Amino acid sequence: MKIAKFGGSSVADAQQILKVVEIVKADPARRLVVVSAPGKRFSGDIKVTDLLIALANAVIAGRPYDDELSVVVGRYAEIQQALGLDTAIVQEIEADLRERIKNRSSNPAQFADTVKASGEDNNAKIIAKVFVNQGVPARYVDPKEAGMLLSDDFGNAQVLPESFENLATLKDQKDIVIFPGFFGYTRQGHVATFPRGGSDITGAILAAAVKAEVYENFTDVDSVFALDPRVLPGAPAIKLLTYREMRELSYAGFGVFHDEAIIPAVRAKIPICIKNTNCPAAPGTMIVAERKYEHGEITGIASADGFSTISLSKYMMNRELGFGRRLLQILEEEQLSFEHVPSGIDNMSVVLRSAPFTPEKEAHVLNRLQTELGVDDVTIEHGMSLVMIVGEGMRYAVGIAAKACAALANAGVNIEMINQGSSEISIMFGVKEVDRKQAIQALGHALLKVDK
Ligand code: ASP
Repeated sequence: MKIAKFGGSSVADAQQILKVVEIVKADPARRLVVVSAPGKRFSGDIKVTDLLIALANAVIAGRPYDDELSVVVGRYAEIQQALGLDTAIVQEIEADLRERIKNRSSNPAQFADTVKASGEDNNAKIIAKVFVNQGVPARYVDPKEAGMLLSDDFGNAQVLPESFENLATLKDQKDIVIFPGFFGYTRQGHVATFPRGGSDITGAILAAAVKAEVYENFTDVDSVFALDPRVLPGAPAIKLLTYREMRELSYAGFGVFHDEAIIPAVRAKIPICIKNTNCPAAPGTMIVAERKYEHGEITGIASADGFSTISLSKYMMNRELGFGRRLLQILEEEQLSFEHVPSGIDNMSVVLRSAPFTPEKEAHVLNRLQTELGVDDVTIEHGMSLVMIVGEGMRYAVGIAAKACAALANAGVNIEMINQGSSEISIMFGVKEVDRKQAIQALGHALLKVDK
């Protein structure tokens, strides 16, 4: 049995939904279909989830909300008309939304979740009808009825362990199951949603629950590329990668998945296949627990901006017991999560994401570090990019760092930090943001043999 999850752009309008029907029909193993809310139909379009958030905000603020409501209903009406479905379905959707608003909770986050969840819920209902109209026996399954139980962290809910056993029974459904992504119910029976993009989580949970042979994640790209083709055209597609490689690549900016989204599938060792709704014949990219690899082979090169470095120096630091602990303690108290801590004899640097630093926060943290750690010098520098070279084949391979460093040197890129060791399958470089593009291109030429 396969789980087929279709993201927002794959179910954005009637034409896309018909492609979904054809894809599911083409493989009898595709028995469980998870769908998102209608996404963007063209660049600049607005996702239904965002329209629903605007609607919920208007209601919470006590403003008139008829305009927001009619835009949402209009999106479904277009789908209904284009597919010649009964108009009653649009009336039901409007009534459903008004009902959710009428019975609203006084907790704004809880209420917003109820409204947001309607995007996937109503889309799943429509899509189940389209399947039936096209002669494919299918049925919408309510996450409540199926036992998708979540914690009550509204907008950021986590799956509860008993859900897996509950959902395992979906295996025995005779018709194809159309299951809405993104939400479930708390033990008290309230709607709760995962974080944004959470339909991927629903798919991964179902895949683990029914022990699927594969979790197919349909989106709008043919495959994952070894390097961002916008930065270096000609980068090869990745056919196969491991969960570990994907995790390292997505850490440094590969937008494949929200890596937390697929934890249930990773834990259950379910292979994940990324495929294109608009080109289902393309093989896509497969993500697996283990794979064979060539010695020295590089799988991908990723990069991300937005990092800062705090550099501390103190004479005789290496002899001072507890320095690192006190430093990290201060960062913890300041709610700053650290990414890397390269260190020397009398120096230590901490690489963090730049986003939490306001000028006030920066001054406050530097002052604490200076006074509480008694350092000789402490500075902070912003504007760093992390560049990661990733590949299972890098284990025990000699000379990759040398080749990478030579390529960066030839391109005139200064390496501010290098980190190899903790993970055997990646090398990380810190470079200035202004040098990032050049760094990636140089590494792509040297290590992935992309010419041009
Ligand atoms: N519709 C939700 C969102 O836009 C969830 C999803 O599509 O995965 O975040």
